[in-house]
Amino acid sequence: METIHMSDIYGQYLTMKEEIDAAMQEVIKSTQFIKSGKALDFEKKLSAYLSTNVIGCANGTDALQIAFMALDLQPGDEVITSPFTFIATVEVLALLGLKPVFVDVCPNKFNIDSSKIEAAITSKTKAILPVHLFGQCADLETILSITKKYDLYLIEDACQALGTEFIFKDGTVKHAGTVGDIGCNSFFPSKNLGAFGDAGAIYTGDENLAAIIRSIANHGMKAKYQYERIGVNSRLDSLQAAILEVKLKYFDKHIAARQNAAKYYDEHLSEVAGLQIPARAGYSTHTFHQYTIKTDRRNEFQKYLGEKGIPSMVYYPGAIHLQEAYKFLGYKKAIFHMLKG
Ligand SMILES: *Cc1c(COP(=O)(O)O)cnc(C)c1O
Repeated sequence: METIHMSDIYGQYLTMKEEIDAAMQEVIKSTQFIKSGKALDFEKKLSAYLSTNVIGCANGTDALQIAFMALDLQPGDEVITSPFTFIATVEVLALLGLKPVFVDVCPNKFNIDSSKIEAAITSKTKAILPVHLFGQCADLETILSITKKYDLYLIEDACQALGTEFIFKDGTVKHAGTVGDIGCNSFFPSKNLGAFGDAGAIYTGDENLAAIIRSIANHGMKAKYQYERIGVNSRLDSLQAAILEVKLKYFDKHIAARQNAAKYYDEHLSEVAGLQIPARAGYSTHTFHQYTIKTDRRNEFQKYLGEKGIPSMVYYPGAIHLQEAYKFLGYKKAIFHMLKG
């Protein structure tokens, strides 16, 4: 039986091997490992691709943390987000003393239900943090109208959605992560654009915020050995950047391949009774970080796939408000769709 990988990282590498190997050698020869050389080159290339400022950092979790550190928020301030996401989205809020406030997700698109956000706003709400789960944008146009109306920050967790585009009603198209005040991305190996280790990036169109973010990601530094704020050490290193720079050249092709695979799945799975294929929103493209199907017979179905040599994973087996570490937030079981698990 042919082995299929959940994410064939090595197979993809082989298609770019010469270029990636050469780029890594170049970094070693140059000894420009940190905040120089390829690290800066890649930031520039991604910045051109996204048409916004890009600041590299160590991983997607740090991208989120640094984004919230860059805002003028106080402990206890509330951030509205989704309970159905990777843990990092909520973890950084808790670490910074901010209060995550969960709003339910759309049961077929898996992203925050924008029609339920306004009811969750209080005088302490300072930001909305939608997650573009599985590679499809949340309803950013509605969310943007809410952040404008209530004067809130819009921070996008775009860790699963590099390459995804949001389409406004007037036809304007913007990359996921570039609609709000700050966008956060991860280059975890299995993400849409994956490094060979940890790496991340923060996007912002605001020059002032970009300068603050750069400073925070580099120990709060203003000029050499002058510190203007408390920061962290979170840097995208040149070896990872060199790999990402090569892969970015082929990125649109890689995304098209994901979309073709998804189309094939759609064609062959849409008629299967008891299976729900991923719903598409008219306002977003989909880059299929995951192709996520729903069925009431999940365990049975997963066993069947396993027997055929087809890997699958459950994303995510439990919603965050039910995780032990987040019980202190006081959420009860039956309030979200995603509460079954
Ligand atoms: C991967 C991911 C993160 C965290 O990224 P890391 O690079 O693993 O730290 C945050 N949010 C979401 C939605 C993710 O998928």
